[in-house]
Amino acid sequence: MSDDLEQETLAIHTGIHRSQFNEHSEAMYLTSSFVFESAAQAAARFSGEEPGNIYARFTNPTVTAMEERLAALEGAETCIATSTGMAAILSCIMGLLSSGDHIVASRSLFGATVNLFNNILKRFNIETTYVSATNVGEWETAIKPNTKLLFIETPSNPLTEISDISALSALAKRKGVWLVVDNCFCSPILQKPLELGADIVIHSATKYLDGQGRVLGGAVLGNHELLMDGGVFGFLRTAGPTMSAFNAWVILKGLETLKIRMDAHTAHAMKVARWLESQPNVARIYYPGLPSHPQYELAQKQQKTGGGIVSFEVKGGKEGAWRVIDETRLISITANLGDAKSTLTHPASTTHGRITQEARDSAGITDGLLRVAVGLESPNDIMADLARGLS
Ligand SMILES: *Cc1c(COP(=O)(O)O)cnc(C)c1O
Repeated sequence: MSDDLEQETLAIHTGIHRSQFNEHSEAMYLTSSFVFESAAQAAARFSGEEPGNIYARFTNPTVTAMEERLAALEGAETCIATSTGMAAILSCIMGLLSSGDHIVASRSLFGATVNLFNNILKRFNIETTYVSATNVGEWETAIKPNTKLLFIETPSNPLTEISDISALSALAKRKGVWLVVDNCFCSPILQKPLELGADIVIHSATKYLDGQGRVLGGAVLGNHELLMDGGVFGFLRTAGPTMSAFNAWVILKGLETLKIRMDAHTAHAMKVARWLESQPNVARIYYPGLPSHPQYELAQKQQKTGGGIVSFEVKGGKEGAWRVIDETRLISITANLGDAKSTLTHPASTTHGRITQEARDSAGITDGLLRVAVGLESPNDIMADLARGLS
């Protein structure tokens, strides 16, 4: 596919390899293995002399199509699809790191990522140091001789802190370490970390890439040498956290509408955020698309828009926040995000419920904080649904 096509076109036309039936919409290849024409061909496939599919734990044409499409959108040489977003993070680290290596990570990461680093990688002698998402100086100080990788998520969940991808990638290059960016909140439509100097992009395809809350999926993206020779694909092929052909097909079709969905999520979130700013019972808003956001300038430079996630602090603490949740009739009370349906979460008692009150307070996750992942419903209906519990 030509390089000069724009993202919305690439999202529809990349990764199409028609079969002998010349189907217009992409076919789904539900098969666990592939047949060879001869013993010699089987041997050539296994030795890598002849490219082609062998077994679906390694590759499958539907998964390959999704990988090609997502790679085009992120501007990546290579994409490796995985069964979930967490499998993408695990595959990245198991492929690139060894026992004795060290990670420097943002303090504001997805809960399961923190559990993976603290409770699982630690058992294999991979240690993680956590630093501020926004203070680049802290990252420099935390890098040790055995540091291999810096890990960020921007904007962060739920406080929408923005990490400076260009500054951290410059630091990573100077120190000879890799910068990994979990780009789940923005999707490639709003932010392209590889263009800003990151080495690897991680996705939970479960969120905006699918976009309708149907399947789990993940992806690791970066240059061919790092992912293929560096061991990420080798880990996937051997250990097996592979994406299924069915899930790949759903995500492949989801990507076709990613641009118009992200535009709508953003426009709706902006309306909801502006409206929340005018509500007397709202103490504070966290939305990178508003000039009141402490890193508005950086957000403007780094991501195209503020995205679809708005967090806000309700007056009246937990009671006030729970009232807003319990008065909704339309918005789903669930921790998922990136869906056509709006979702509403109380981080202090759910996603961040297992950390101490003290840690939550120092992180700014107060009892009155709510996070809304603004969906594709009419923003007027979303605001009316929130207004009931805010009045
Ligand atoms: C959901 C999520 C993940 C994990 O993805 P799964 O597909 O649920 O495994 C990782 N990072 C972020 C930012 C997420 O929101």
